[in-house]
Amino acid sequence: MAYLKSINKNSVAIVGGGIAGLSTAYYFSKLTSFRPVIFEATDSLGGLAGTQNIRIAGRSIKIEKFYHHFFAKDKYLRELLKELGLETSLVFRGVKNNYGPKKYNMCSIIVLVAATIVPWQILANIPIKFWYKFCNKKLDYLQQLLKKKFGSHYLDLNTAWLWARIHARFTLRDILTEKLGVIEPSIDVLITALKRKIISANGQILLRHPVYHINTLCKQGYRNIVYTAGLNNFNRFVRHTGIKINAPQYLGAFNIVLITQKPLTNYYWDQEFILNQNKLPLLVKVEQSLLNRSLPKNIVYLGGYAVPSQIDYIQKNKVSILRTFLSKLQINKVEFADIFTTKIAQHAPTVAYVKYMPKDMYKFKDCRLFLATFGNVMPWDRGVNTAIAQAKKLVEKYFLL
Ligand SMILES: Cc1cc2nc3c(=O)[nH]c(=O)nc-3n(C[C@H](O)[C@H](O)[C@H](O)COP(=O)(O)OP(=O)(O)OC[C@H]3O[C@@H](n4cnc5c(N)ncnc54)[C@H](O)[C@@H]3O)c2cc1C
Repeated sequence: MAYLKSINKNSVAIVGGGIAGLSTAYYFSKLTSFRPVIFEATDSLGGLAGTQNIRIAGRSIKIEKFYHHFFAKDKYLRELLKELGLETSLVFRGVKNNYGPKKYNMCSIIVLVAATIVPWQILANIPIKFWYKFCNKKLDYLQQLLKKKFGSHYLDLNTAWLWARIHARFTLRDILTEKLGVIEPSIDVLITALKRKIISANGQILLRHPVYHINTLCKQGYRNIVYTAGLNNFNRFVRHTGIKINAPQYLGAFNIVLITQKPLTNYYWDQEFILNQNKLPLLVKVEQSLLNRSLPKNIVYLGGYAVPSQIDYIQKNKVSILRTFLSKLQINKVEFADIFTTKIAQHAPTVAYVKYMPKDMYKFKDCRLFLATFGNVMPWDRGVNTAIAQAKKLVEKYFLL
């Protein structure tokens, strides 16, 4: 049975084996005498950054379920890769991106300048709808994109979140090309290295071990618990404890992954390709093999966001949905096609939500419960770097003497 190792006051339970859970466990092993035990609900590690093996022409290749790229500013990711001896796996390349019609006008410039000089704490109180009004609809294109991603929440998103996204994306830019980073051959090298480090430092990883209530862990003797899963189930996790949070609304995501004979366009990130075609509920086309040159095949992602109930529908009707999309986009001759889905992909960082965002620590009896999930970070967006930063800061803040 799994619980062979005894639990003592130096054991810490970590709920979730995504990047946040794995890096929390890694920093406990590296910086403290605590022994981390990861409880992961599914049968694999990585969460949203997980990969899947597929067989193509008798050969097995690992593909990321959701496209990933990184920015020069991703300091925590770079530091971690260096510590793990994986520095050279992160490769930065210039790629051509197409963000759609470039309609720069005085108003969008004023908005950008304002966003750069005003502290994010103030911007966090300003809903994006304020800028639409201010600019008298001159931000229509941005509005269209945010609506595709956030559905009914798009007008209420806070401006600090949007500013942070633009800031991260435009920091490493030549005049003409944008440099993006990618972990080669896939992000699985990071996941595997973290797993090895945790286990070699006497930590434990329990797959197929969902935890639904904090009491299960407190009763087992854990006094410190780190919760890294989606906040949508958090109030259920702490029911009858007196703890209650203001949980965010989540959007799910689906990525159609295709292996095609050649790139569909020369752009890595291509928004126009999607927006121009047939009003499909897609947000972007990502030509991952233009960035990740180690991929043995031409791999393309068509990505979109949807509310969790629509994700259920997509999951159940994969085959017919794939057929419809491919025929509408006139994509033929694919060697491989599949759809990966998740119901918890992105929370809606609305003004109302960030005002009452959950804290990073709660107490229940003699247990301390910590939060390190992408739903409680501001102003930066969720992402691999954010998850690593959260993990490191949490261990340093509460567990270093
Ligand atoms: C389409 C898409 C594209 C993305 N692109 C990028 C990108 O280009 N660059 C980037 O940096 N980031 C990107 N991200 C975001 C990035 O993948 C995530 O921010 C990051 O992986 C989140 O890690 P996490 O550990 O916080 O959460 P998750 O990956 O969600 O991990 C949570 C884990 O908890 C487990 N769990 C849930 N409930 C329970 C339970 N009750 N008990 C035990 N375990 C449980 C889950 O199975 C999961 O493994 C993208 C995400 C998506 C969806």
